[in-house]
Amino acid sequence: MPFSGFLILYMLMALLGAIILLLLEWLWFNSHNWHLSRSKLLTCKKCGNVFQLPRQSVDRRCPACGGRTQPFQMPYSGIHETLKQRARHLKEN
Ligand SMILES: [Zn+2]
Repeated sequence: MPFSGFLILYMLMALLGAIILLLLEWLWFNSHNWHLSRSKLLTCKKCGNVFQLPRQSVDRRCPACGGRTQPFQMPYSGIHETLKQRARHLKEN
């Protein structure tokens, strides 16, 4: 086999290895990629308990105290705020 044959074989092996690694990473990412559904994450208005509503459940009451709930909102941090949002926030409080 000439030298160019080995070179082509080496290139093909390297390419195949890279493709296999990409495939493994894609499989790993798909099996580990999950996040909380925002619509199912609830906060209790009465006691402040934050909990995730089970998938098939329709009972939206708090499991700890039975109080009414509202969709979860991230606590106020002010990091990702525009000036307009900040003005609105200041007006509300
Ligand atoms: Zn509660």
